Amino acid sequence: MLNSLRQIVQEVNSAPDLNAVLEIIVRRVKAAMNADVCSVFLRNQSNVYVLMATDGLHQNAVGKVSLSKEEGLVGYVATREEPINIDDAESHVKFQYFPETGEERFSSFLGAPIIHHRQVLGVLVVQQTQKRRFDEGDEAFLVTMSAQLAGVIAHAEATGALRGIGQKKEARFTGVAGASGVAIGRCVVSSPLADLYSVPYQTCEDVERELDFFQNCLSDVREDVKNLGEELENRLNKEERILFDAYLAMLDDKSLGGEVREKIRAGLSAQYSWSQVILEHVSTFNSMSDPYLRERASDVRDLGSRVLAALQQASSANKREYPDNTILVGEDLTASVLAEVPQGKLAGIVSLRGSSNSHIAILARSMGIPTVMGAVDLPFTHLDGHELIVDGYRGAVFADPSDAMREQYQEIVDEDKLLVAGLESLKDLPCETTDKHRVALWVNTGLKADAIISIERGAEGVGLYRTEVPFMLRDRFPSEEEQRAVYREQLEAFAPHTVTMRTLDIGGDKSLPYFPITEDNPFLGWRGIRVTLDHPEIFLSQVRAMLKASEGLGNLRIMLPMISNVAELEIAQMLIYRAYDELLEEGFSVQMPPIGVMVEVPAAVYQAKEFAARVDFLSVGSNDLTQYLLAVDRNNARVADLYHSLHPAVLRALKKVVDDSHSEGISVSICGELAGDPSAALLLVAMGFDVLSMSAANLLKVKSVIRAVSLEQAEKILDEVMAFPDAESINRCLEGTFREAGLTRLLRPDTDG
Ligand code: PEP
Ligand code: MG
Repeated sequence: MLNSLRQIVQEVNSAPDLNAVLEIIVRRVKAAMNADVCSVFLRNQSNVYVLMATDGLHQNAVGKVSLSKEEGLVGYVATREEPINIDDAESHVKFQYFPETGEERFSSFLGAPIIHHRQVLGVLVVQQTQKRRFDEGDEAFLVTMSAQLAGVIAHAEATGALRGIGQKKEARFTGVAGASGVAIGRCVVSSPLADLYSVPYQTCEDVERELDFFQNCLSDVREDVKNLGEELENRLNKEERILFDAYLAMLDDKSLGGEVREKIRAGLSAQYSWSQVILEHVSTFNSMSDPYLRERASDVRDLGSRVLAALQQASSANKREYPDNTILVGEDLTASVLAEVPQGKLAGIVSLRGSSNSHIAILARSMGIPTVMGAVDLPFTHLDGHELIVDGYRGAVFADPSDAMREQYQEIVDEDKLLVAGLESLKDLPCETTDKHRVALWVNTGLKADAIISIERGAEGVGLYRTEVPFMLRDRFPSEEEQRAVYREQLEAFAPHTVTMRTLDIGGDKSLPYFPITEDNPFLGWRGIRVTLDHPEIFLSQVRAMLKASEGLGNLRIMLPMISNVAELEIAQMLIYRAYDELLEEGFSVQMPPIGVMVEVPAAVYQAKEFAARVDFLSVGSNDLTQYLLAVDRNNARVADLYHSLHPAVLRALKKVVDDSHSEGISVSICGELAGDPSAALLLVAMGFDVLSMSAANLLKVKSVIRAVSLEQAEKILDEVMAFPDAESINRCLEGTFREAGLTRLLRPDTDG
């Protein structure tokens, strides 16, 4: 059973479109379950379940038979959202007869709902002429099958939606809101080198030239493989030598090369043709029952990547052109990919992976680039060059929009510009409540450009400088001197205001291309301070660079990420003192900066007092604290609905950290994304946070809200929400308050898209 399940899923995964997916499902499931009929019904936009494919019923019923949720056994399965197993279907009250299917011949019925992200997409049914009670094993098989197929069907439906574009309506894809705002522009697909799965669909203009280009690259790789085989000849065993010969044979004209040439002749680009041919072969090998042959899939993939890399490197098309208003789309975007887009050209970002608190989304927010994360079903390789609308408020992407939709979104873009311009006047006004309670509004930085926007918007300091960002944009660790120069720029830009530099915080979803960390559970693994304490040479050179950079300015604070126990703090402090003493001995006139701890893990909440007694300030990293308190991976779009920044447990933890810090007489800030949320900011002020640090894009919105209320009002709202049992009620209460105060525009614009 497991084998046929795996094989069916493999086959389905590589099917070119929704029809092919459904055809494979009905044919293969019918055979695997030894049934007389297998059919798939899918829900359409009018919420009706339409027969989309069948093996066993009359083919002319396909597309014609449809049932509402209230009709027939299919509707019954969809309503109950659980499998229904009946040995005498005709006698069931819900049975409904459709003459066009020839259904009267079938007595037994087993149906399972196809559910994706809690939505019933359709129903998978098997039937039998004889009275047959499908047994528990059959039922379990069908349920497993439909659970596995749901994602593939959703994806194929999404791709199908794209094919219909230009005809009636734009295709809509959903994800998670990553950075607010709306962008309208042209899609540029970002495909990492040698990644067969992300090659954009592109045609070629000159077939003969493309064929020559392909031929040349292929000959180069053949030559390389041949040379490598000869070099290693004496070190290879017989089987390995055979593998090299097999590689060479595969590159032959009569094999893969020939298939690719056919596709190029049909007008496709060499890169796309090559990736498609390889993926077809990989999937054929993968679906083989012989384990040895199945293993060969990885050989084909290896070879495929090697040739693809050669094609990409040799192709002038690979030197990407970025149009004005580029919408960058990719499976897993990185800081360095964003940095490749020339300044001023990047309008929007869509990432298939990640969620709203992934670091790429945070970076996008700080750049003010509307972003959608976790758009898992986006058929991105088919979107290169298409016009896209990115709705970063709702987490939606529209491909090839109609004129009406473009106009509707253009209005929002214009309104947003007006809103930002309207807030400019607040730039030099103090951030204080109507009863003169002063709060410091600082910014989070990382990129060079952040400093300029931050100062323009009136930032009074930096609450979090993410030092890992300059590390990510290099291809090796920066030297102490290189770091010093970067840090100096940051400190000088803000002097005399404070700049809080966090020591290197890698791991989790932040990896350095030259220092990969591969773990099963990266957010609970080797990240933040754990990495740098294991590598004191990296830590010391970073701290030395920070101290040297602060010479003569005196506006540096050092902050330690992911501290989960006192020992980590004490060792880090000891290393900072060591760096400081060394520099004094070397003749630098540096000052010992204030040192702070980030409160990012639940343990730190309960030990806030102990930490506060040992340092100069605490700063809450609410992005991580929320994920660890709620056990919700901040990088996983599938659980994004559970990532409640205003969960009562989070609010109570925040309040405790503020009280414990103040009882030890030290200042406390918050530098997670929560601080930049205008409605949350009210609560944070009422709790007593001394500093709110956020991306510059949110600074003036937050200031305008704080200046519109009194501390007393904010405290009243806080008292009210602290008594609520869940995040939904808290959000509703805050929305109500904002509506009454006429501040809704600061939260997000209304769209009915
Ligand atoms: C946080 O966790 O809230 C934080 C500010 O750090 P980062 O988002 O960089 O992990
Ligand atoms: Mg963090």
